[in-house]
Amino acid sequence: MINIKENEKLNVLNHSCAHLLAHAVKHLYKDAKFWVGPVIESGFYYDIDLGDKVLTEDDLPQIEKEMKKISKSDKLIKRIELTKEEALDMFKDDPYKIDLIDRMDESSTIISAYKQDDFIDLCRGPHMNTTKDMKYFKLIKVSGAYYKGDSKNKMLQRIYGVCFETEEDLNNYLNELEEAKLRDHRKIGKDLDIFMSHDLVGKGMPLWLPNGAIIRKQLENYIYDKERKMGYLHVYTPCVGTVDLYKTSGHWDHYKENMFPSMKVDEEEFVLRPMNCPHHMLVYGNEIHSYRDLPIRIGEFATDFRYEASGAVKGLERVRCMCQNDAHLFVRPDQIGEEFKKVVELILDVYRDFGIKNYKFRLSMRDPLDKEKYFDDDDMWNEAENKLREVLDEFGCEYTEAIGEAAFYGPKLDVEVKPAVGPEVTLSTCQLDFLLPRRFELTYVDSDGSKKTPVVLHRAIFGTFDRFTAFILEETKGALPLWLSPIQLNVIPVNNEYHLEYATKIYDLLKEKDYRVQLDSRNEKLGYKMRESVMKKIPYSIIIGQKEVDSNTISYRKYGSEETITTNLEDFKNLIENEIKL
Ligand SMILES: [Zn+2]
Ligand SMILES: [Zn+2]
Repeated sequence: MINIKENEKLNVLNHSCAHLLAHAVKHLYKDAKFWVGPVIESGFYYDIDLGDKVLTEDDLPQIEKEMKKISKSDKLIKRIELTKEEALDMFKDDPYKIDLIDRMDESSTIISAYKQDDFIDLCRGPHMNTTKDMKYFKLIKVSGAYYKGDSKNKMLQRIYGVCFETEEDLNNYLNELEEAKLRDHRKIGKDLDIFMSHDLVGKGMPLWLPNGAIIRKQLENYIYDKERKMGYLHVYTPCVGTVDLYKTSGHWDHYKENMFPSMKVDEEEFVLRPMNCPHHMLVYGNEIHSYRDLPIRIGEFATDFRYEASGAVKGLERVRCMCQNDAHLFVRPDQIGEEFKKVVELILDVYRDFGIKNYKFRLSMRDPLDKEKYFDDDDMWNEAENKLREVLDEFGCEYTEAIGEAAFYGPKLDVEVKPAVGPEVTLSTCQLDFLLPRRFELTYVDSDGSKKTPVVLHRAIFGTFDRFTAFILEETKGALPLWLSPIQLNVIPVNNEYHLEYATKIYDLLKEKDYRVQLDSRNEKLGYKMRESVMKKIPYSIIIGQKEVDSNTISYRKYGSEETITTNLEDFKNLIENEIKL
């Protein structure tokens, strides 16, 4: 979606439309007072004090109508320049504008306001020339917003809108918006009973419901099998550590603002872990390793806690409690290229399986001239960075290089995926680390008997299971592939009196084969049950009527298809078996 704030023309247009909105509101609500009306990425809003009046969506058409009227009347928008005293006098009845004027820089002697017909508002500009320029606009929604964002202050009415230069642009945008709403994983998550949240648990702490838990378990099994075949060793470690652990790792000094505060238990001070690296370092250090043992790959589906501002948390996408598909690969310096190649292979493999096509690789490299900013080992950096490039070239992956954006301790690969709607998301990452193994004094015994320090690759393929689930729900609009669907098959008898017995037999036979199947034996009409089956995005609805009972068959309809197909149970089982195999 277009970023209106960053588009110069649309920015001025939307800003001017915010004035038009305020103008119309002033006509309709004589006592309205106006706080601020900025342009945002998705258009504009205006915060308005309407006394006790609380606006609803139903009020918006009337305001829009008044805006259209003012727009048509083609009033010139004039800039007026005032001294601070004049401005204070002009807006003396409006405490919000007085507040704004008072906060203006003392040195700016000129204060500007914009006037269109009988409406004047304090503003820096620039603006369109006439009210007629704002012709193609739409008010999107209304919500409450505290004055200055402080919940101790008065609640104002915030009206959101958007304005474009042509009707076509506006309609395209509104369609995109509609599409985004349909794909919003929070809506899908609710409709399909995938997750919930509760104030008593807290913000950004989703609860996975049984349907969601099936999806997550399927994802875990899927990636666990792949990792195990690649020689990963999986562990379980606690989701807390002592403050000293994170002092050793350096997180306490460099990552503290993203962590939950510490808690004291007896003599120990704990934190909820934001990352699993320190625990995995200790697992590696538990044994003496020979150069022949490397690479050693420690994997875990690990729950982490990170501080996110309460306003930033969103469904499963941005959470304070997440589960990472994490692993740490301990390698000799000469194995970096080979191991990195395996990680990229795995990423490409997984993306193929999920049909993810729209992605970009991004390598964060050091700036070799900036010696201060990076771990001091030129040979290690040069060799590692060249290896990363070589691997991506070998796979024919297109990638961008971000020079100077590497972390202090090593270069990094990010894979940014472009979803169907919304901005790019980073799913997979692979971060090289020269430093952490040193901090934990990890070693291996080299061929000449000397102790050497391994290099660590931190990698996550799904990123977090939370974010990946949000992503896949939005990509598929909740119509998940058969292997991932919480309910795969829905057996629906046409009439319970005559068909339930046979339907139950079919249900039992499918259940026996371990399919996730449900039997809809409610006394409802077939049409009603079919509609609900489609609404719940169940991949296969199996209809059992008299014809099926008489001929010992089943009829099924695949999600998204209008066609009903009659077949015997064996053939149907073969069909879905093939579909489940990736
Ligand atoms: Zn303005
Ligand atoms: Zn790590």
